[in-house]
Amino acid sequence: MSDELFGPGEPGDPTYLKGSVCRACGRAEFPRRAECPACGAESEPVDLEGPARLRVSSAVLAQPPGSKVQAPYGVGVAEFPQGLCVIGLLVGEPAAGATVEVVVHEPYPGGRIFAFREPGFLPAVAI
Ligand SMILES: [Zn+2]
Repeated sequence: MSDELFGPGEPGDPTYLKGSVCRACGRAEFPRRAECPACGAESEPVDLEGPARLRVSSAVLAQPPGSKVQAPYGVGVAEFPQGLCVIGLLVGEPAAGATVEVVVHEPYPGGRIFAFREPGFLPAVAI
């Protein structure tokens, strides 16, 4: 499943989201689609690398039922140059307005997902 959403990499490595852009109307989508949901035309694959701008930043303080990700953790909405907004986990504490990149994240052992991080951010404590 994760292979369909984002590119390769080890936890902490920069990666990209697998999106698509409509050949006819230019609408961007994530996850990637073969056909544009707006006009039905063919969409072409595009790698959403960023840098993106963090539009919203928030913190989850209480662990949602069934979640394997240990609270507290950050979530945010990043806007890509293609005009697409994507919600995701945050690495570190980037504030709204920050420039972020897409990285491979492992919030719990064996659980790989993408996350947004300010370029150059390094954890204070090596894991
Ligand atoms: Zn379209």
